[in-house]
Formats: sequence, C-alpha cells, structure tokens
Amino acid sequence: MVTDVVVVGGGIVGLTAALRLRQEGLDVTVLDAGGPGAGASPQAAGVLAPLLDQAKPEPLLAMLIDAAARWPRWLEEWDDAGTAPTLRHGVLVVAETAFHLTELRQLERLAQAVDKDARLLDAAQVRQAVPGTAASVQGGLFYPGAAWLDARSLYRSLVARCLAAGVRIRWGTPAVGFERRGTRVRGVRLMGEIVPGGAVILAAGAWSGLLLASVGGRLPIVPVRGILAEIEGVPVPPWPVFGRTHHVVPRPDGTVLVGGVEEQAGFAAHVTTRALRRVLEGQDLYPPLADGVIRGQGAGLRPRTPDGLPCLGWWPGLDGLFVAAGHFRNGILLAPLTAEIVAAAVTGAEVPMDLGPFRPHRFEEAP
Ligand SMILES: Cc1cc2nc3c(=O)[nH]c(=O)nc-3n(C[C@H](O)[C@H](O)[C@H](O)COP(=O)(O)OP(=O)(O)OC[C@H]3O[C@@H](n4cnc5c(N)ncnc54)[C@H](O)[C@@H]3O)c2cc1C
Repeated sequence: MVTDVVVVGGGIVGLTAALRLRQEGLDVTVLDAGGPGAGASPQAAGVLAPLLDQAKPEPLLAMLIDAAARWPRWLEEWDDAGTAPTLRHGVLVVAETAFHLTELRQLERLAQAVDKDARLLDAAQVRQAVPGTAASVQGGLFYPGAAWLDARSLYRSLVARCLAAGVRIRWGTPAVGFERRGTRVRGVRLMGEIVPGGAVILAAGAWSGLLLASVGGRLPIVPVRGILAEIEGVPVPPWPVFGRTHHVVPRPDGTVLVGGVEEQAGFAAHVTTRALRRVLEGQDLYPPLADGVIRGQGAGLRPRTPDGLPCLGWWPGLDGLFVAAGHFRNGILLAPLTAEIVAAAVTGAEVPMDLGPFRPHRFEEAP
C-alpha cells in the first residue's frame, strides 16, 4: 500500500492530482523546477468548452465532455468558498468567412449534443450580443452552457488550497531523474538529493518527455508556445469570442486577453516582437482592441502529443511511475478528471474511464 507520493510538476495537472491524493489521506510532495506558475497553466485562457469550431476525434471528445461535467462539482467541494474561482458561462465562435460559417452550420447538431442550447446566430445577432465584433463577421455558434474562468486566479487559489490541505510544495526544485530499485520506482532524483516516494506522478507538462528519457523511455511530448497579450481600456466582451485564428477573452479585472498564435520553437516561453505583432492582429476580430493599452504579454508551452491525446497511465517497466501529461490545449478543462484518474490508479480504486487509448507508452509500440 502506497502512503507517500511525489508529484513532479506544479502546474494545474500536478497540483490538482496532489490535492486529490492528499484528500485520500496520502502524504504528498510536489516538486517544481520553477516558481509558482512557471508552466503553461496560469497563461491559459481558462475556457472549459469541449467543442469550439472543429469536431474532435473520439475518445477525446467523450473525455472532454466528461471533464466539463465535473467542473461545477469540483468547485463546490472547495470548503474555503471565498477563494473558489467563479465559473462563468457562454462561449461564442464567430465565422469571418462564408466557408467558416458553412462549417459552423455543419457543426450545429454535434454542438447541441454537447450543449443542448447551442445555437447559430446571424451577423446581426452576433453584433447585438457582442458590440464591437468585426464587420466581417457573418454569424456564429453560441454555446450558452460552456464554462470559463480566470486561469490565473484559479492557479493561485489552487496553490493555496494545496498548502492548506497539507500538500508539501517545493518550488525551484528540478527533478533530474527517478530513483529505482529493480523495476520499481523509489522516488525522484534531484541534484544531490533523493526525494523518496512509494509512487511518482510525472506531471511536468511540456517537459515530461525530457524526464522520462532519463530512464530510457520515449514520451514524444513537444512544447507548443502559445502567445497572448492583455489589453486594458477597451469594452469587455460578455463572453470569450473565438474566430478562426484569434480569440478574445474577458478577464474579471476588466482587461481583455487576446491570443491565438502558436509556435513550435523549443522550450523558451518568451514573446518575440514578431509573435506579439501577430497576436495583436486579433483586432481584426475585435476592432476595439486597436485603441487599447497593452498591459502585458505572456507565453506558455502547451504540451502536445503526436496524436493529440493526453498520456495517462502507469509506465511499463518502472512500477509505481504514473504519467499524467500531454494535455495540450485542454489541460485546464481536463485537470479535475485527470486528478480522479490519478487518485483511483494510486489507491487501487476503479479508474473512471478506459485509459487504453491514453496509455503513455503507445508511441513505443510497433505499428
Ligand atoms: C496561451 C494558452 C492558452 C490556453 N488556454 C487553455 C484553455 O482555455 N483551456 C484549457 O483547458 N487549456 C488551455 N491551455 C492549455 C493548458 O494551459 C495546458 O494544457 C495546461 O496548463 C498543462 O498543465 P500541466 O500542469 O500539464 O503543465 P504546466 O502548467 O506547464 O506545468 C508543468 C510544470 O512542471 C514543471 N517542471 C518542468 N520540468 C520539471 C522538472 N524537471 N522537475 C520539476 N518540475 C518540472 C514546470 O516548472 C511547470 O510548473 C492553454 C495554454 C496556453 C499556453
């Protein structure tokens, strides 16, 4: 019986899993190479929609729908009610071309299977609902039930909640490998120290493959840099609005986040001037941004797998090592479900879904 668990990675996936394991009565230590928020999680737009403007392959769509349904319950559990992030509802996808509008029309039925009140809006309805949207917008698909929240305050509250629950978090503590005895993991190696653990959860986001390589494992997760800018002094749209390339998302502090640029350029989470210029093209979608003031910009590394599915499961050949990584564009949405999966696996309870398609070693298997 495992009593102590080491979680590598203090992003939303690692912290949510750590909290859930702690609630099972386990002794949990989280190691993070950076400071709070070093990874992608606080940079996220915070949209918890299983579907936007493109059908997702099964089994991902079913997983995202399951994950979205868990969010209200997960937030209700927060006993320190004052710090629970507020869930807001309504997400709009707009079409700036006739072709995109046709695609949205084709998606309407599937959208209604995910969100029963999802509906198409014509151009006038879009502009009435979100004044300021571009004149080129020809219509949209509105998901009234899709949820969103402020990822930064979620992350801050989650750190506080973990600490209050008794999760130990060690910031500035990069893991360099795994301690093993035979085929069993015994802890995590740091430079000059071993942190012992009966089980280890690898939740290091885009960096997870680097760590698994230290034991000869192949986990081909690549970092995909997402860029955003924060604009103040402009009218705040009532909901997140997604166009084909860019999106704008309201923030509770009255700023508007604009994003939509992705780059595959290694592990540097910085913002180049070229990327910033491309992000600011979001004003083609939402022209009021043009008169706004840039309050900040940021970047986060989305962890992408070759097939777009996250990696969830025990790593074969190293008993006691569970991989929870590769959540790409959906790590915020998937975090509470991932935590349930991790906790069930570690405690020997029934895992809430079939992990077969998500097995982390699938890329090592012969075709
Ligand atoms: C701009 C942007 C917008 C997004 N919008 C959304 C959205 O609207 N909805 C949604 O669901 N998702 C969204 N995402 C995706 C989501 O942010 C990610 O899927 C999620 O944050 C991944 O969480 P994680 O905990 O796996 O990784 P991270 O948050 O990146 O955390 C990984 C942690 O591991 C640590 N680490 C790395 N190496 C080591 C090591 N050797 N030892 C110890 N620690 C280590 C890092 O310091 C980091 O803190 C967005 C992402 C970006 C970039």
